[in-house]
Amino acid sequence: MTDDKQANEFAAALDRLKQAYIDRLPGELSAIEAALAEMEANQPAPKQLENMRQLLHKMAGSSGTFGLRELGAQAKEIEQQIKAWQKVDKDALSTEDLVALGRAFNSIKSASLIVDQSVSFNVQAKPDLHLDEDLVRLWLVEDDAILAGELKRQFDAFGFSTTVFPDITSADKAAKTAQPDALVLDVMFDNGAVNATEVFASTIFLSKLACPVIFMSAYDDFASRIRAVQLNAKGYFLKPISVPSVVNHLRREFEAVNSPDSRILIIDDDVELARHFQLLLQASGFDVRCLFEPEEIIEVLGDFNPEVVLMDLHMPKYNGMELAGVIRQHSNWMSLPILYLSGETDLEAQANALAKGAEDFLTKPISDIQLVSTIRARVMRSRQLEEKISRDSLTGLLKHAVIKETARHEVRRAVRSGKPCSLVMLDIDHFKLVNDSYGHAVGDVVISAVATVLQQRLRKTDLVGRYGGEEFVAVLPECDSKKAMTLVEEIRKSFEQLEFCHDDRVFHCTFSAGVICSGEFKDLDGEQLLISADNALYHAKENGRNQVALATEVLEPVS
Ligand code: GH3
Ligand code: MG
Ligand code: MG
Repeated sequence: MTDDKQANEFAAALDRLKQAYIDRLPGELSAIEAALAEMEANQPAPKQLENMRQLLHKMAGSSGTFGLRELGAQAKEIEQQIKAWQKVDKDALSTEDLVALGRAFNSIKSASLIVDQSVSFNVQAKPDLHLDEDLVRLWLVEDDAILAGELKRQFDAFGFSTTVFPDITSADKAAKTAQPDALVLDVMFDNGAVNATEVFASTIFLSKLACPVIFMSAYDDFASRIRAVQLNAKGYFLKPISVPSVVNHLRREFEAVNSPDSRILIIDDDVELARHFQLLLQASGFDVRCLFEPEEIIEVLGDFNPEVVLMDLHMPKYNGMELAGVIRQHSNWMSLPILYLSGETDLEAQANALAKGAEDFLTKPISDIQLVSTIRARVMRSRQLEEKISRDSLTGLLKHAVIKETARHEVRRAVRSGKPCSLVMLDIDHFKLVNDSYGHAVGDVVISAVATVLQQRLRKTDLVGRYGGEEFVAVLPECDSKKAMTLVEEIRKSFEQLEFCHDDRVFHCTFSAGVICSGEFKDLDGEQLLISADNALYHAKENGRNQVALATEVLEPVS
């Protein structure tokens, strides 16, 4: 779909909701009028007064969103007046009070006809990148044929399929009909008269590619780096580049772009308002579900697994605080961020609501842009926290406890389904020597490289964790020992090809691995399988390292 068409459809859908809201107003106004008539006929009438307050509260919260700002402001004013009466337990309204209410009602009736036409929202959708599931196709623009060949060899060892272009023009031509998952561009050409960044900027297709672009340069000056940022390069690497570092960087970029849409659950009794927010958030790249039946909350949470809940505070059957309470009773949802979106402006009531387990309070009416940016920031924060809790900061892999639990879980699942699950325990060979010879920082690059090779080579359904300093665990569901051995052996061969450099010194690293398959050790649980995989790993080390050993019944633990 073209951007224009999408924008038009979005605007039309918002208009339809706005019309539906305007269509329902006469009904709501009549309900307020009926309450007023009953109050005029019969004082005191506390039930009617509360009913009227609730109707006005809802109107105050929603009308601004649909372009009826004046109505919203006036409804809010009367609601406040009623609240003030309720606070002092005024049981009967005086004739003057009723006349004032009647006058105020007439003025909101006129305000309900003033519709602001200029409700607009600039959708900032997540870029639609059309990327493949995998980070595989790499384009390398490098004029030095020998260097290009060497870089290609190294990138391919990480599982890329690299295409080399000798100049920007030929890459631009290719970009007319195809696109890579990543572009690595040398911005230093032999022909010094040509400014490669400017050539790149003027390309028709290449500079518009949606994939991450990395610049390689010999210049480390501020101006060159700023130019790279201005041209939207996602990385700037100094020559001679360290391929493992570039690949690590690309992987992170790729994961950030390819992260699934954030899931937002909206709970509000106002259908048009909830749908309006849903449309806005969907157009901004969120995956949104609305819940109108609070009784289904726990099922919906389990099914949809939202990252943020956006909840109205005042709803007819149950209020937001009660629902938050039910959510918090479930340990799975203890830390799920809940944002109240309510017309409640009373600070004490807000504080009270926050004390009952919510994260933040947004006040209706809220502008579309404010809503979207608040939710975006909240999701980002919650993802960062989640990452911090479960992911290792150096490699982005699952942490020790998480991968261990994952192994247990997947093995239990394998037993239930009768399908095999393989576990791999992997350890870098003589890693202490790497640290001692090249320094800890270079050691870190090697650790990241193992992580990257594993992520590149394994399937999306496989899980990888950093088990210890230079030890890794991979969990391969639905994979028998033969397939697992072939796969890990391939990864081992790729890894030994990788070149690491430090101060012009080039070196290689290897790893050893132990593989075990749940299908062949039916009595062992995940934890016991990991211990046996570790035993197999030690056999591989004993046997001379740089090899993969399979745990079999005859392979006794090394004492
Ligand atoms: P082997 O082949 O038997 O596995 O020998 P090795 O040297 O790899 O094993 P050893 O367990 O003796 O040494 C592991 C080293 O890994 C020791 C530790 O300093 C280093 N290490 C642990 N975590 C990190 C880390 O995060 N970064 C770096 N650079 N080094 C680390
Ligand atoms: Mg080691
Ligand atoms: Mg070790």
